[in-house]
Amino acid sequence: MTNQDHLTPLLRQYQSIKQQHTDAILFFRMGDFYEMFFDDAVTASKILEIALTTRDKRNENPIPMCGIPYHSVDSYLPKLIKAGHRVAICEQVEDPATAKGIVRREVIRVVSPGTVLDGNLLDSKENNYIASVYPGKDISGLAFVDISTGDFHVAEIRAPFTFDDELSRISPKELIIPQGVDSSLFPNTSQLQTLCINTCPQEMFESGRALSIFDEHTRWKQTGMEDIDASSPVINAAGGLLGYLAETQKTSLRNINSVNVWKRDRHMIVDEHVQRTLELVKSQQSGQRRGTLFQILDKTMTPMGGRLLRHWILNPLMDCNEIIKRQDAIEEIKNNFTLRYKLRELLSNINDMERTISRITLKAANARDLASLNQCLGIIPELKGLLSGCSDQFISNAINMTDEVGELKKLISDAISDSPPLSITDGGIIRDGFNHDLDRLRGISREGKGWIARLEAKERQRTGIDSMKIRYNRVFGYYIEVTKTKLQGVPQDYIRKQTLAGAERYITPELKEYEETVLGADEKTKRLEQQLFEEVREAAARDASRIQKCARGIAGIDVIAALAEAAHTYHYVRPVINHGLSIKIKEGRHPVIEQMGYGGRFVPNDIELDCEKNRLMILTGPNMAGKSTYMRQTAIIVLMAQAGSFVPAEDARIGVVDRIFTRIGASDNISEGRSTFMVEMEETANILRNATHRSLILLDEIGRGTSTFDGISIAWAAAEFINRRLKAKTLFATHYHELTELALTTEGIFNSHMSVREWNDEVIFLRKVMPGMADKSYGIQVARLAGIPMEVINRSKEVLANLEKEELDDSGMPKLAHSEVNRGRRPAQTDIFSSHETHPVLTELKDLDIMNMTPLEALSKLEELRGKVEGRRWKVEGQR
Ligand code: ADP
Ligand code: MG
Repeated sequence: MTNQDHLTPLLRQYQSIKQQHTDAILFFRMGDFYEMFFDDAVTASKILEIALTTRDKRNENPIPMCGIPYHSVDSYLPKLIKAGHRVAICEQVEDPATAKGIVRREVIRVVSPGTVLDGNLLDSKENNYIASVYPGKDISGLAFVDISTGDFHVAEIRAPFTFDDELSRISPKELIIPQGVDSSLFPNTSQLQTLCINTCPQEMFESGRALSIFDEHTRWKQTGMEDIDASSPVINAAGGLLGYLAETQKTSLRNINSVNVWKRDRHMIVDEHVQRTLELVKSQQSGQRRGTLFQILDKTMTPMGGRLLRHWILNPLMDCNEIIKRQDAIEEIKNNFTLRYKLRELLSNINDMERTISRITLKAANARDLASLNQCLGIIPELKGLLSGCSDQFISNAINMTDEVGELKKLISDAISDSPPLSITDGGIIRDGFNHDLDRLRGISREGKGWIARLEAKERQRTGIDSMKIRYNRVFGYYIEVTKTKLQGVPQDYIRKQTLAGAERYITPELKEYEETVLGADEKTKRLEQQLFEEVREAAARDASRIQKCARGIAGIDVIAALAEAAHTYHYVRPVINHGLSIKIKEGRHPVIEQMGYGGRFVPNDIELDCEKNRLMILTGPNMAGKSTYMRQTAIIVLMAQAGSFVPAEDARIGVVDRIFTRIGASDNISEGRSTFMVEMEETANILRNATHRSLILLDEIGRGTSTFDGISIAWAAAEFINRRLKAKTLFATHYHELTELALTTEGIFNSHMSVREWNDEVIFLRKVMPGMADKSYGIQVARLAGIPMEVINRSKEVLANLEKEELDDSGMPKLAHSEVNRGRRPAQTDIFSSHETHPVLTELKDLDIMNMTPLEALSKLEELRGKVEGRRWKVEGQR
């Protein structure tokens, strides 16, 4: 838009509102529609698949526009949010009938991926976080909140940890950063590419302002925030975030009323690689929950429980006592079958109280939300009764948090009808007997309707028209309808209002008079009902923190019950957790693969790692033998144990691990655009720099992306470094058999292999881990299993035999090619680049004086050289 003068007053209003929301699509309410204009219309029409039209078609530059009916906003809005857009919803804030000039309009809320409240857009088993960061010199601040639940956390970040580590752990949907901070601070978080990032002015993060809004929400000096002082960058981050939310949500966020300080050293670090390679909450193939540890363990019955379980999996504990508390609780519920059964059944009737109460505080809840909250509160006494016999500390703590909020429960029961409608403006919400005025209005309306029914009967008698009906519509109000065939009976005093194909519609003064009373009462009823409903909703909002605490108690009980159920169903054992440095697992299994039902039975395996003789295992064995599975299962069992869960094994003794590191697979990062080898080396470097003697490292075939010799050398040196300097427990799978020699000479390093049997030239995988190294790699047999043609298989056996006999020539090139071309003579291709005999073409190339050649000369020289190379190869091949 260039010249404002050409705009109509309406569009000028639009422009001035749009200017304050340049980074959002503006939904501009006009009557029954939300209209979009200009670029917004172009963008939105594509995503929403709706027609793009223009306003003012006669103009030579007509304005693009599109619109959606206001009542279908729920089906359109999610599409824009999912596509990563923010939407500013602008309503008419005065009655068009009484407004002078243009109706006043205001943005009432900005919806963005990190601030959705709509159930259709939220995953019930996952928090929907919006995060904000504030970089500082030594310490940086991070804050994140889920406004749909009120979950609010802050964390200080100190080197060597980075925003990346934290952000990948919490996977926010939206990120707020102060102006002037560029996104190169977060180079590695792959999900950031799809993340909605908002840059906000520095003032929003300014200390004084930040502290005051933070204090408003949390009364932070009264909570357990001793370690954080007023000058911490955490306060800036939190204040900026809360300020942003206040601005976009246009309501005070009363559901955010306490804060959790996340402490790094309380938790095992689970970074993005580990999440991905161990497939904790998202499968590598589909990105979905299927085939993940979370899916296997998720026997929770409530959405809060599901979210908490996910949190436990991604944030395993370091403190043995805390872990043991969870184990004790799981054990108690696991051992009591009837209790577990009844408990889970009760829990299944509890719905998402946490999100319901958030909608209530944000004034986005309807009467069904209140009814559903009421139903949940009604279950609490039963739940308390059921668990009253439990002596366990964790369970009694959780049950003490639950609260039926009796007064509120009574209020909702008295006020809200049994199955209220979705809309809060159409009545039908409040029970009879709750409010005098309401009862009186309803009486009038009921009487009026009775009067109309009586009038109908009376008129039928008077006119003799039996088929006459008194009806109602929004345009005419009440009217009398007579079919065409009966028109002769219509009396003089009827006033004709409308003619239809088969009937005439009439009114009478008497009818109209009564209509006013009835409709007036109906209107008043609806308005009063809405007002009463809002009062009850407000009362519920005042109890928000009690209800949130109750929801957290229920979540805790639900997770314990779920893990007990999983332990029972899958035959898990309670691991022994200690502060030692060794890991001993007997008959361990991979919790996901064992449930996949791939046909055969899962073969369990033992493992023993410590910080002395058994520090670093070199694991060899053919492809498909089960190396990766074995390594992952070890890490998953450790992680499950520290999350408090029982584990898939016969027996497990686990010294707590501070971090799991994984470097797995050679080709899984290609999509990120960096060379595979580079990525592999960066990740290895990260491990070598950050692992401690408490860490558990999985290295799966590192060094694969480069030449054999480079690969072996790097792998060798890395293994030595880890073993000698870091002393971290390590599983090192490799197809470089050379590495097995390390174990023979180095204390702490030992060999294991996946056993296979050969039978009639076929290989059978036993999937059992045995001491010592594998004798060969069976690659050819595996290739055969995979369906490589027999001709290739047979030829590769020949090559292998050759290789094993002669191996490498003195230039380091494999001799395998010799038998193919001509025994004893090198093929031309190898010849050209081998170092000790210079090919004549190379000499000629080197001597070329390119600067003094015309392009044409250069081209013909090139052609000549190519002729020489091809001629030579032809000669070699011709000698066969
Ligand atoms: P490798 O890393 O040695 O190539 P994988 O660990 O990828 O082998 O295992 C290959 C396949 O073998 C897996 O997909 C799994 O289905 C199966 N497998 C692995 N370990 C076991 C086991 N202990 N018991 C049964 N099947 C297994
Ligand atoms: Mg593997």
